[in-house]
Amino acid sequence: MKFGGTSVADLTRIRHVAEHVAREVREGNEVAVVVSAMAGETNRLVALCREAAPLHDAREYDAVVSSGENVTSGLLAIVLQSMGIEARSWQGWQLAMRTNAAHGAARIDAIDCATLTERLAQGQVAVVAGFQGLSPQNRITTLGRGGSDTTAVALAAALGADRCDIYTDVDGVYTTDPRIVKTARRLPRISHEEMLEMASLGAKVLHVRSVELAMLYDVPLMVRSTFTDPAKAPPGTLITGEDIQMEQEAVTSIAYARDEAQVTLRDVPDAPGVAYRVFGPLSAAHINVDMIVQNISDDGTATDITFTVPEADYDRAMAVIESQREEIRFGKLIGEKDVVKVSVIGVGMRSHAGVAATAFKALGERGINIRAITTSEIKISVLIDSATTELAVRTLHSAYKLDRVPAEG
Ligand code: ASP
Ligand code: MG
Repeated sequence: MKFGGTSVADLTRIRHVAEHVAREVREGNEVAVVVSAMAGETNRLVALCREAAPLHDAREYDAVVSSGENVTSGLLAIVLQSMGIEARSWQGWQLAMRTNAAHGAARIDAIDCATLTERLAQGQVAVVAGFQGLSPQNRITTLGRGGSDTTAVALAAALGADRCDIYTDVDGVYTTDPRIVKTARRLPRISHEEMLEMASLGAKVLHVRSVELAMLYDVPLMVRSTFTDPAKAPPGTLITGEDIQMEQEAVTSIAYARDEAQVTLRDVPDAPGVAYRVFGPLSAAHINVDMIVQNISDDGTATDITFTVPEADYDRAMAVIESQREEIRFGKLIGEKDVVKVSVIGVGMRSHAGVAATAFKALGERGINIRAITTSEIKISVLIDSATTELAVRTLHSAYKLDRVPAEG
């Protein structure tokens, strides 16, 4: 069971969390709990480090920002004990949760769970501090912001857990952002792959790396709400690697990402090697290019190239291309930051024809212009003006009949 910052924001909520844990214990489960720091606490600690010195030792930063989880893991263990449940806290170094030495963004290498497994078998609840680990130099590391999800999945994989339940302030994963589409509904089940696409595209429910890890180690994940009656197991969304339904729908969700920017080069010579002259320098500058559109030229002389980069890299990308003006010999350089990428996701696309056509027809009928398109086996993404985001998401959500009442037997 993993509980995020809002779930452990104060003692009242920690007591509520303890009731969820107690339910699982009563039902005869061996339980390991991973906790985040209290909501806002990690931000506070990060700010303190910056205030202490704008440029600071990353190892000391980790020593400081990892401490919020020490507090919540200890407090939850105390509350559980006060309820008569045997429990103890575990910090990352005590397990040990071994990571590499990339302070502030460490990757987990191995978890030694021998003692933990023994204690669990004796009926002791393990309350593990999320987000933290131990470097090869025996220094405290952290996994990057939001990293407690990753701690939980890694621990579930290492323990061979039946399931990893991520308790949070939403009751599951939705067909799209419910703030935009009122008729969005909670998905009872989706696949790891679909969740990975959604998380990568900005659905904030889960840390992207935790989903990657769950997919790799085939850990079933369940996203469920903390804020329910703890006497009953809350419903949620089960995320698994299995084939989900016999009659798989082609599309399960619509996601959108606002942090995209578009770059277009006009009148680029249509000659071998030109793509490399554009994308080579971008890659050398560590700028991630996502969508790419290149036209063929009518007369075999000049063409246009359009691509997208993360909005945060836009200025750098424009500067890189500008610096290559002589080499690329383009006519005009145009950029646009007010764009959004909307994606249609579903593993069922693999076996359904015409999925993309449905999107293009629906968007066209609404007068929404598509600037660029990319597709993968389980995803179609279109780049559009950000002013049309809401309309596009709603249009696609109903075009794929996601807002109808599910026909559940
Ligand atoms: N407390 C850490 C953060 O805020 C880790 C987490 O909550 O997942 O980033
Ligand atoms: Mg989180």
